[in-house]
Amino acid sequence: MLDYDGTLVPFHKQVNEAIPDAELLDMLTQLTKDPANDVVIISGRDYKTLETWLGELPLDFIAEHGAWYKYNAENEWNTAPDLNTNGLQSIMQMMNMYTKRTPGAFIEEKSYSIAWHYRRVEKDLGNLRAQELISDVKHIVGDMGLQVLQGDKVVEVKSMYINKGKAVKRWLDKDNYDFIIAIGDDHTDEDTFKAMPAEAYTIKVGKNISAATYFLNSYIEVRKLLRDLYLDDNTLKQGNKQFALM
Ligand SMILES: [Mg+2]
Repeated sequence: MLDYDGTLVPFHKQVNEAIPDAELLDMLTQLTKDPANDVVIISGRDYKTLETWLGELPLDFIAEHGAWYKYNAENEWNTAPDLNTNGLQSIMQMMNMYTKRTPGAFIEEKSYSIAWHYRRVEKDLGNLRAQELISDVKHIVGDMGLQVLQGDKVVEVKSMYINKGKAVKRWLDKDNYDFIIAIGDDHTDEDTFKAMPAEAYTIKVGKNISAATYFLNSYIEVRKLLRDLYLDDNTLKQGNKQFALM
C-alpha cells in the first residue's frame, strides 16, 4: 500500500509537477507483473489525476483519502458511502479570504473536499496563515460532519467519515495476504498504518513521529526497497502466496 506524493515521487512546488517518471512507471510495472500481487496507490489526490497518470497500469487505487477507490480487476471508480459535503461551501468562503491575504496560496477543489495549499507561500507567512486557518475552521467543522487535515504545506477539509485507514480495510477484508507492506510520509498515512494487522510492515518516510514500525529517509530509499523486493525472487515469489503492497 503505497502513498504517492513524498513517498514514490519527490515533493514539488507545483502540484502537477509530480508526474510519474519512467523509473517509477517501470517499477510499478514490475511489481504488478505477478498477478498474485495487489499494489494499491493510496493518495489524497483526485481520482482523475491518478487515472491520467497511472491508469494504464494494473494497479488498485484509493483517491482523495478514500472518497474514491478502484480495483484493478473492475476497472471502474467507486465512491465511498458516508460522503458528506454539506458545509464545504462555507469552508470555501473562509479559504478564499485566506487566499486573498496570502500571496502564493491557492485552493484545490476536489469532489468531496477542499484543500488550501501554501507550498508557494513564503515559509513563515505560510505556516502562520495555516495555523490561523486551522483554528478558524476547527470551530465550525465538527457540527458539519467535516474534519480538518494538515498535510505537507496543505490544509484540507473533508468528511470526517473518510480516511485512508477506512479505505484500506476494503483490501484487508477482501483477501488473506501473506505479506503486507504500507509506506507513507504524511499525517494522513497514519490512518493507514493504524489499520494494518500486526504482521504488516509499516514504513514512515521522513522523521516525524509515527505509528509505523520502520522509517526510511526519502522516496529514493523507498524506490530502492521496492526494487529489491521484485528483484529478490525468494522474497516475492514464494509459490502461489499472495502479497499486498499498499
Ligand atoms: Mg504523501
